[in-house]
Amino acid sequence: MTKNIPEMYGSLVFNDKVMHSKLPKDVYRALRKTIQNNTHLELDVANAVAVAMKEWAVENGATHFTHWFQPMTGITAEKHDSFISPSDGGVIMEFSGKELVKGEPDASSFPSGGLRATFEARGYTAWDPTSPAFIKDGTLYIPTAFCSYTGEALDKKTPLLRSMEALNREAVNLLHILGNTSVKGVSTTVGPEQEYFLLDKALYRARKDLVFCGRTLFGAAAPKGQEMEDHYFGVLKPRVSAFMHDLDEELWKLGVPAKTKHNEVAPAQHELAPVFETANIAVDHNQLTMEIMKKVADKHGLACLIHEKPFEGINGSGKHNNWSMITDTGVNLLDPGKTPAENTQFLVFLTAVISAVDDYADLMRVSVASAGNDHRLGANEAPPAIVSMFLGDELSAIVESIENDTFFAKPDAVQMETGAHVLPHFFRDTTDRNRTSPFAFTGNKFEFRMLGSSLSVSGPNVVLNTAVAEELKQFADALKDVPAKELDAAVHKMIKERIIAHKRIIFNGTGYTDEWVEEAEKRGLYNLKTTPDAMPQFIAPKNKDLFIKHHVFSDIEIMSRYEIILENYSKAIHIESRTMTEMMKKDLLPSVYAYMGQVAKAANEKKALSSALSVSCEEELLTKLTSLSETITTLTEKLEADTKEAETIEDMLERAKFYCYTVLALMDEIRAAADEAESLVPDALLPYPTYDKLLFSV
Ligand code: ADP
Ligand code: MG
Repeated sequence: MTKNIPEMYGSLVFNDKVMHSKLPKDVYRALRKTIQNNTHLELDVANAVAVAMKEWAVENGATHFTHWFQPMTGITAEKHDSFISPSDGGVIMEFSGKELVKGEPDASSFPSGGLRATFEARGYTAWDPTSPAFIKDGTLYIPTAFCSYTGEALDKKTPLLRSMEALNREAVNLLHILGNTSVKGVSTTVGPEQEYFLLDKALYRARKDLVFCGRTLFGAAAPKGQEMEDHYFGVLKPRVSAFMHDLDEELWKLGVPAKTKHNEVAPAQHELAPVFETANIAVDHNQLTMEIMKKVADKHGLACLIHEKPFEGINGSGKHNNWSMITDTGVNLLDPGKTPAENTQFLVFLTAVISAVDDYADLMRVSVASAGNDHRLGANEAPPAIVSMFLGDELSAIVESIENDTFFAKPDAVQMETGAHVLPHFFRDTTDRNRTSPFAFTGNKFEFRMLGSSLSVSGPNVVLNTAVAEELKQFADALKDVPAKELDAAVHKMIKERIIAHKRIIFNGTGYTDEWVEEAEKRGLYNLKTTPDAMPQFIAPKNKDLFIKHHVFSDIEIMSRYEIILENYSKAIHIESRTMTEMMKKDLLPSVYAYMGQVAKAANEKKALSSALSVSCEEELLTKLTSLSETITTLTEKLEADTKEAETIEDMLERAKFYCYTVLALMDEIRAAADEAESLVPDALLPYPTYDKLLFSV
């Protein structure tokens, strides 16, 4: 039987349609106003919404509700309360506006950086009516922001909402100055493409490194990797296809617009892309997507890996953050448009993004910093750690013609009196795709490609929104007092100056080459290779000023985040180091010794058979295995000692550096010896599955 997808879509969401049918007219109108204009919601309206929400939730099988939030762990958190309330010896199902609007979870066990010491442990969750509530596993989920008792953000949603507000404010103001006064609001749109791996669940469970760290810490390469390029866009295997079908349906029910699915480059690697949505909802939906992926995989006897680098030697997983700005009148501000006025507006916003990425390239790098992503950035399959922008040939030619005051030589282009250039309608397909660029213009949006697959997309969008808001504010300040008849010329001059000042960030070549690294250095661009290299930029005065000025983070919030990110980094490597130690001692070395025993026994038996038989092969193998096991033992002992030492370092940055340059470096050395040893030992003696089984198991 074919399913009615439109009926299924959003069936578990308290969306506009449900609100319209369930809420009294005036309540519905008040709520819409709150959602659209970010205005305050009165308690009586909240009470009416709560009643309707509960009724709808109970009708759909819910018994509980939860405030759903995104603490600094990078994943989501929830605490369920049932609707029951004692009444006349029995119970009734109750839910009040107060319960909808505000929760008071204990915040003391969530990462809070310096905030923990400074503030009370109590935290608040506050309903975010701009992201729809939904039902999952018999519980009504209410998206909320999470902050400390004194109002400091402890989560990933609050700063995102603030940054969207900043961008809205500055974009609308500038549009009005440019004469586009019909626009009342501008929101950011985001479409995050999500990469992941699927493995057989039993094999996944048999490896401690996958279970504890999400990635393999060692493992000899399989005979076949991705060199045949036969997996990318390949036919979906039946188990994968069944998983994807189920995943789509689960996501659709939750109103997540899953759109595209395909096999990725590495064996066992796949991708899902949704239709873009308002940034805030896109972030919530991406969190849900990652969660549901794992859950559905489990149901299918699979394990879904969202780590950035689960396997050495083949591609890791990233997330492409497609980003643009849209007006409430429905205009995509990064769409070049067809008329001169639209073109000018496009060029202004494009120039703002170019300026933002150049001025805050360091913050963009910081926004994707994590222990997992460090394995990917700068490696062959991912953009380098250097932030640059790709505009494509045509747009670059346009930008150049503005810079040099030359005529843009496209057959149907015309020059305007003022010198402002009229672009021909710019078809997105004319932009060639440069997969090596960290930040590429793809026709009517930018694609930020440095994100790791497990990262919340909140952080990168906070940086983008705030940085662009700042540039838009500078533009507005420069233009606000210009008389109307001089405006065109002033706009043109401003764009030109900005392009000249920031063109160093534009790079259309291949980002993977050594020449680019050299060239970028000459241009004065940042090359922040690791998380400890990047993080000091987060608290650099110019970056603190940016966030504080636009009310996105307070000083204290920045410092707390700085600590949390560094602490998370150190903890991730700490766990990896301990897992590696354990796997060496309990898994690999015992297998190596067992095999050495077998080889020695075989050699002895051979000698007993006839002294004329040579045992040189066996002896050579034993020598090699002895040497490798000695290396592994010595290095593992050192790893244990270094890891203990790391824990004693008080300063967060120094500790992270020690984990990066000493502990991780040592783990790489151990890995080299371990991979070689593993390749010599028969599979039957290894207590964990090897790469060939893991990658070709489904
Ligand atoms: P490609 O696969 O070539 O990168 P797609 O058209 O498939 O390009 O889009 C990739 C992602 O970009 C999708 O998630 C899509 O919804 C998103 N996207 C498209 N337009 C916008 C936009 N204006 N703002 C944000 N994201 C967008
Ligand atoms: Mg893409």
